[in-house]
Amino acid sequence: MRLDIISIFPEYFAPLDVSLIGKARERGTLDVRVHQLRDWAYDVHRTVDDTPYGGGPGMVMKPEVWGEAIDAVIGASAIPSGARSGGYAQGPGEDEGRGEGEARATPQPSATGSVGPQPVVPGADAQTTVEPGTVEPGTVEPATVASRTPALPRMIVPTPSGRPFSQELAQELAQEPWLLFACGRYEGIDSRVMEEYSGRLRVDEVSIGDYVLAGGEVAVLVMVEAVGRLLPGVLGNAQSVVDDSFAPGSMENLVEGPVYTKPPVWRGHEVPAVLLSGHHGNVARWRRDEALRRTVRNRPELAAALDPAKLDKHDRKLLDELSFRVRRKDVAN
Ligand code: SAH
Repeated sequence: MRLDIISIFPEYFAPLDVSLIGKARERGTLDVRVHQLRDWAYDVHRTVDDTPYGGGPGMVMKPEVWGEAIDAVIGASAIPSGARSGGYAQGPGEDEGRGEGEARATPQPSATGSVGPQPVVPGADAQTTVEPGTVEPGTVEPATVASRTPALPRMIVPTPSGRPFSQELAQELAQEPWLLFACGRYEGIDSRVMEEYSGRLRVDEVSIGDYVLAGGEVAVLVMVEAVGRLLPGVLGNAQSVVDDSFAPGSMENLVEGPVYTKPPVWRGHEVPAVLLSGHHGNVARWRRDEALRRTVRNRPELAAALDPAKLDKHDRKLLDELSFRVRRKDVAN
């Protein structure tokens, strides 16, 4: 999967070097490219914001700079790779008088090391990347992630006013070969940017929760981590995704119950005996009971959305004990 992220703070994405996501990048499962939005602002201060029409406090991100940035990021892959001179993704750097574009982004601290073109060669040594400029025009390139990506990405714009991010949406995004994240700051991005690209790309405005952050960077980190861990081979045990809270299937609208490891007694607290019993059926039943209990306690609105057709007799008895009413009239048999 290819991910492009445009932001005025590329250094925010340093954590994408770490842990599961960092490993996925090393392996080439994830090809992350972080772009400095200001590379497409051409005034001396590299301004990306302006005062809002209609008045009021705060600033709004300018459409022109976003348009230039997005065009460059999505346009780069449309250029046949053999015809490209500076690597796979091109900023406006090739264009005289327009600033340095991604070329300028390359030496950015970006502890992620991902600023600028960074094609990963699957199957090659994990650390191997093709440095910009090392592929001569006209030469045959190794099969790259870039050359396998489709013509256009799906664009995600984090905003508190967007549709809620969820495990379901994470699963949907994990199917996409290419995502482009546009990180807003200030009061957000001029709305015409989303309007403009909706005509060319699938654009989703997405919120990670009912609170307001200072910028889209943290929201994008959240989404990238949630999506990235669903990609094949990223988690050591693919089964764990199925058992997760909210996972479509048996965990739909449920949160996971408590988990334990050794020792069996710690500071007088015992691990529930059933987990030591070795009886798989009982363990599974206990886990489901605990998931139901926790969901009712912490997330009653989720419990209310449980599909009655997917509740067995035991589930319903437990919910009754918890005095929790699932839409009774819908309950099958
Ligand atoms: N005035 C806006 C909030 C702007 S916050 C409003 O009331 O809706 C600045 C930026 O932070 C946003 O453009 C967005 O990119 C990001 N952001 C803030 N809260 C967010 C959330 N809950 N989910 C996703 N992105 C968020």
